[in-house]
Amino acid sequence: MIATATGVQPGVAIHPGQANSLHLTEIPRQAPGPGEVLVRVRQVGVCGTDRELIDGAFGSAPDGETSLVLGHEMLGEVEAVGPDVPGFVPGQLVTATVRRPDGCPACEAGQPDMCQWLQYTERGIAGQHGFLTETVVEDARWIVGVPRELAPIAILVEPLSVVEKALRQANLIQRRILSWNPRTALVLGAGPIGLLGTLLLRSRGMEVVTMARRPAPHAAAEIVQAAGARYAAMQETSIREVAAELPPIDLIFEATGNAEPGFAAMEILGNNGVLILLSGTGRPAELTVPAAAINGSLLRGNKVVAGSVNSAREDFELGVEDLGRFETLWPGLASRLITRRLDGLHDFERILEKPDGDIKTVVDVG
Ligand code: BGC
Repeated sequence: MIATATGVQPGVAIHPGQANSLHLTEIPRQAPGPGEVLVRVRQVGVCGTDRELIDGAFGSAPDGETSLVLGHEMLGEVEAVGPDVPGFVPGQLVTATVRRPDGCPACEAGQPDMCQWLQYTERGIAGQHGFLTETVVEDARWIVGVPRELAPIAILVEPLSVVEKALRQANLIQRRILSWNPRTALVLGAGPIGLLGTLLLRSRGMEVVTMARRPAPHAAAEIVQAAGARYAAMQETSIREVAAELPPIDLIFEATGNAEPGFAAMEILGNNGVLILLSGTGRPAELTVPAAAINGSLLRGNKVVAGSVNSAREDFELGVEDLGRFETLWPGLASRLITRRLDGLHDFERILEKPDGDIKTVVDVG
């Protein structure tokens, strides 16, 4: 980073690895150097990863510091651009990717989301301050423009980019199957990732069943149904029962936040199908599984189980495009994922609250 410090600003931070250490810290305010953009943060989304960070499950502060400013889902406005930054103008709405490269072959090839050494840094997660502050200076390579008309929902671009990557991976993997034409999909989990996955797969015309723990009615089940998908509760029916009533399942997104459902999903995935694991599962879990049956069915059915984490710049661009598509298909539906807005950084302690039915909390920074 070439930026120069111009003062200090508040940031909502944790001491990584220490549970419930949420506090306000001070970090430098910076001016952009060559190739950099100064962004005024407007909104920051809170997600499951942030809750795990607050619980002390993982995370790391920048080198030589003890606090990590949180926040990796950001919507902001360009305030100034440094020299040699074509394509960005003050006032423009932008978001930013999360991960920064570590010099491994994948990162060097331009795919930090496929990092091999796992020494990457991530804004608000690992080794770099996040966006829960007033202004951010960022390399223009990681900044993605957002059209004004999407402003009320554009904070969803980062989580949407995660499922965009998952679908892009599935389609890349499935180039091995000449007849790949996915029709039936199962989404496990109805948090932001499961719901955005549901909308994405429905927008591609697939028949989608989305399963999560709690029986309907609730806000997440209503969003699933409004997008023309079916909602089923794991407390009322099993993944196996749901699969038995469906045509062969071509594609499964696992986004429950628990490790167990992924194994049930392996058992019921259709032949030539692909299961994408998207959950960060901090909680240790042990399970007895029918290993021979799973192994045999993966083998005989040429099935693929793949992990997918983080997202590339192109996934953010796809996300921006698809948010627009969602608005055309289901006006106002995506905004129903944003269930809670906190006013300003000073209200930071309320990030910890988890009101019943909350899907996505957004901090309105300014
Ligand atoms: C973010 C990803 C990130 C991951 C790391 C997720 O919440 O969306 O970009 O790589 O956390 O655990």
